[in-house]
Amino acid sequence: MKAVGVIGYKGSGKTSLVVSLSQELKKRGYRVATVKHIHGEIDLPEANTAKHGGYTDQVAAISERESAVFFKRKKSLEDIMAYLEADFVLVEGFKTERTYPKVVCLREKDEPKDLFDGLQVLVAMLSPKKTMPGVPVFRIAHDVKRMTDIIEKIAFKLPNLNCGACGYETCYELAKKIVKGDKTDRHCPPLNPGTEVRLGGRTLPMNPFVDRIVHSTIKGLLSSLKGFRKGKIEIKIEE
Ligand code: SF4
Repeated sequence: MKAVGVIGYKGSGKTSLVVSLSQELKKRGYRVATVKHIHGEIDLPEANTAKHGGYTDQVAAISERESAVFFKRKKSLEDIMAYLEADFVLVEGFKTERTYPKVVCLREKDEPKDLFDGLQVLVAMLSPKKTMPGVPVFRIAHDVKRMTDIIEKIAFKLPNLNCGACGYETCYELAKKIVKGDKTDRHCPPLNPGTEVRLGGRTLPMNPFVDRIVHSTIKGLLSSLKGFRKGKIEIKIEE
């Protein structure tokens, strides 16, 4: 699953851009999901689900066309993304997250520089196009295809394990190198493990140490059995 962030201050056109990019990616045949940072409550205060939520840890709602689960505590972006079924995830807000490339939406060219953390791949503006050093600038209403071309090529999501297996202490350091074009997400071993463990239908992220232990232990045990042959191993464990 690949991700790109869309960040900017209020009124900078983030939501319009997320909608336009989603439409364009869908047209290109991808499954698209979005995650939006919300200030305050998500559920409507008068909704029955909110009333249920006052006394439970999770609330689910199912209608003819939609399903939703409300967790009554804050989850990490990685936890939530594990539930998504998508090729691309557009993450609106979360400007301090640093494990994927970002589109910066600006109202004015000279807005505070805290939106620029080395992960920006393009700037999108509502107003007529201006130029900025080191990053292409596009108009939100007119350049959606060109912005999507860039996102399609560069989107990635590092696991946020900060395990150091790529040679950098944090995922942020590798993410900056990927955005610069010096590395790719193939340099992150947990993203390309020798072992895949799925729980409840979802892949469980493993750091390289656990990956190696699981890989070598299972192969070691099975290789002593009669009939063992090299190749892909599939194991299913039921409770
Ligand atoms: S190997 Fe992957 S998960 Fe570990 S620090 Fe590097 S980018 Fe992050």
